[in-house]
Amino acid sequence: MRLTLEANITQEGGWVEAEICAPPPAGSAPEFRDTVTGTIVLTNTGAALRAEGRLQTQVTLSCSRCTKEHTVPVDIEVSEECTLQDIDQPQAYQETEAGESRIPILNGNQIDLSELVRQLLNLHLPSRSLCKPDCAGLCPHCGQDLNEGSCNCPPDAADPRLAPLDELWSQPEE
Ligand SMILES: [Zn+2]
Ligand SMILES: [Zn+2]
Repeated sequence: MRLTLEANITQEGGWVEAEICAPPPAGSAPEFRDTVTGTIVLTNTGAALRAEGRLQTQVTLSCSRCTKEHTVPVDIEVSEECTLQDIDQPQAYQETEAGESRIPILNGNQIDLSELVRQLLNLHLPSRSLCKPDCAGLCPHCGQDLNEGSCNCPPDAADPRLAPLDELWSQPEE
């Protein structure tokens, strides 16, 4: 997604408001599923480029309990600073100094927001996700998906270290 520079973002104090409407970032894990929409305001603070705004899309995540893939809406508030001291020098973004994130966003008088959007989304993904709030998870012994029915593992085979999980995962008798 490219945006022609209207404001003079290459100088301190310059800013630009970008309406985001971009295809889902390709080739990333987890996989994004939907057009990315939202608004990002980019401000040149002198030493950094601040990105503030909101992004919405959908992403496919693995369930933390049963590992099933499921698609969840993503609606994140963005407030990040990228260290971009030489924002008007594209070659500056090709070097990486320790601890600094350099994002190749300038190309001539255009800014390319694809990589910035991809990084912002990845930064804010939930670390845990359930396919449904009461997901029964997998049997710790045989791996049976307990959402699809109980297994034949004897109850006394339970590993005591997993007892708290069994409690979490136990489902009502049918
Ligand atoms: Zn699940
Ligand atoms: Zn089992």
